[in-house]
Amino acid sequence: MKNCFVCGKKKEDYEVWWNKLAIAITYDSEFQNNDIVCSMSDKSVMCHKCIKTIEKIVEEKL
Ligand SMILES: [Zn+2]
Repeated sequence: MKNCFVCGKKKEDYEVWWNKLAIAITYDSEFQNNDIVCSMSDKSVMCHKCIKTIEKIVEEKL
């Protein structure tokens, strides 16, 4: 089992995390260009909290 790519938090429900992230990456080019998102690999997972944090960073840049 993997941990969150950003904060290392463990969670079992990775698919939910990944689905949210995949949607954001697919439809939001600002999110896609975020440094953290760019440094993820295909198999990296990110928890909901870290996704929200990045969303906030992206929104503040706009
Ligand atoms: Zn996290």
